[in-house]
Amino acid sequence: MGKTHRGKGLKDQVRQGRSECPVCKRTAVKVVFEVQVKDKTIKVCKTCKASISHGKFQKEAEALVPAS
Ligand SMILES: [Zn+2]
Repeated sequence: MGKTHRGKGLKDQVRQGRSECPVCKRTAVKVVFEVQVKDKTIKVCKTCKASISHGKFQKEAEALVPAS
């Protein structure tokens, strides 16, 4: 895995990858981690990515997936 979420790789992104995490609502965190929810990919912060992959925040994550 490359360092796409660190240093120079972040500078190419909007506000250097920092914004509000849609799951935990913290601001100025790096919302650069992609997580799969119901066949869709959403971007969340690091801790939420870990939480979702461990089965937490499932409801919150699913609410972020646009209904198709
Ligand atoms: Zn979060």
